[in-house]
Amino acid sequence: MPANKKLLFLPGDGIGPEVMTQVRRVIDWMDNKRQVSFDITEGLIGGAAIDATGSSLPDETLADAKSADAVLMGAVGGPKWEKLPFEQQPERGLLGIRKELGLFANLRPAIVFDALADASSLKLDLVKGLDIMIVRELTGGIYFGEPRGIEVLPDGRRKGINTLTYTSDEVERIGRVGFDLAEKRGGKLCSIDKANVLETTVMWREVMESIKGDYPGVELSHMYVDNAAMQLVRNPKQFDVVVTTNMFGDILSDCAAMLTGSLGMLPSASLGEADASGRRAALYEPVHGSAPDIAGQGIANPLATILSFSMLLRYSFDMADDADMIDKAAENVLAGGLRTADIMEEGKARVSTETMGEAIISELEKLAG
Ligand code: NAD
Repeated sequence: MPANKKLLFLPGDGIGPEVMTQVRRVIDWMDNKRQVSFDITEGLIGGAAIDATGSSLPDETLADAKSADAVLMGAVGGPKWEKLPFEQQPERGLLGIRKELGLFANLRPAIVFDALADASSLKLDLVKGLDIMIVRELTGGIYFGEPRGIEVLPDGRRKGINTLTYTSDEVERIGRVGFDLAEKRGGKLCSIDKANVLETTVMWREVMESIKGDYPGVELSHMYVDNAAMQLVRNPKQFDVVVTTNMFGDILSDCAAMLTGSLGMLPSASLGEADASGRRAALYEPVHGSAPDIAGQGIANPLATILSFSMLLRYSFDMADDADMIDKAAENVLAGGLRTADIMEEGKARVSTETMGEAIISELEKLAG
């Protein structure tokens, strides 16, 4: 097993440090039991960084992120910093690190654990066994396109402008991430666009078609975004990997997230371009925020962050066996009836963040035999 993988840990604010502590335990366990050693640096981001340095993304954090093999983040933000000007808010640190690392591909799995299938807003048979991967383009599209702004017309009315632009190379690189993932999963890629109305996405569709020949094992399909939103709640299991633009992905990934029932369970990855050796900048983080309403109480669900670490092993280090073991440990702990407050159901045992972390370690022990 290769050693000394360089990780940057950014616990951040609110429940961030609490859930990251549980990942540390998993890493310590791996260090002892799996002979995998990680070289971990801890850095500041968000409100914690503002308090210590005046900046939500200190230069040192950025330099450490650039030299790390992968970054794992907790969450940023909270009421303490809400009154700061927009540009100085903790969340700017997160946007800044994504931009500086060129993280153009956002991977958001929507997986329904059998034990939690009842928590979904959809009927059990529609979501039981659900496992979708949504790939969202993260650095282009209408969120960044120029021209943009609000202008005042000669007659005094105001006009808001945003522009949807993609270049063919931007579409190709996100498309290839989708195809690569589909190749490793169920072999189905659904590209979502609005090619009946938006020229940019006519080109998007053409680019997807032009590269599909490189992936003979993947079946490519196309769907308009309005239909995709409907299909996600009508029959979500028809999807394997979904690839789409920044704005469509923003909306659809939140919709898919609700199918799984809890914010405390959702991991994510954001990947940059691969260099010649295949190494990519990568940031892993739970989908949830800093949850200031429960911070410091020891009740946050650490599973989204532990599952983000499992994604880190899978996508940054090709350690699928270890990632599978962590995912299985989470599944078994839930099947055994342990629940943090956010996923509590009648008849189950309510546990703290720390107890959930301990339970994951005991499961890992059992699985490792
Ligand atoms: P949130 O995700 O922090 O919390 C929403 C609700 O879900 C809260 O009731 C919270 O207690 C609960 N929750 C979230 N994660 C949980 C977990 N792991 N275990 C148990 N319960 C959990 O969203 P919000 O309240 O809208 O935002 C709070 C702060 O976090 C804001 O400052 C916001 O800007 C920031 N935020 C940061 C990120 C990020 O760091 N990526 C993402 C979203 C929001």
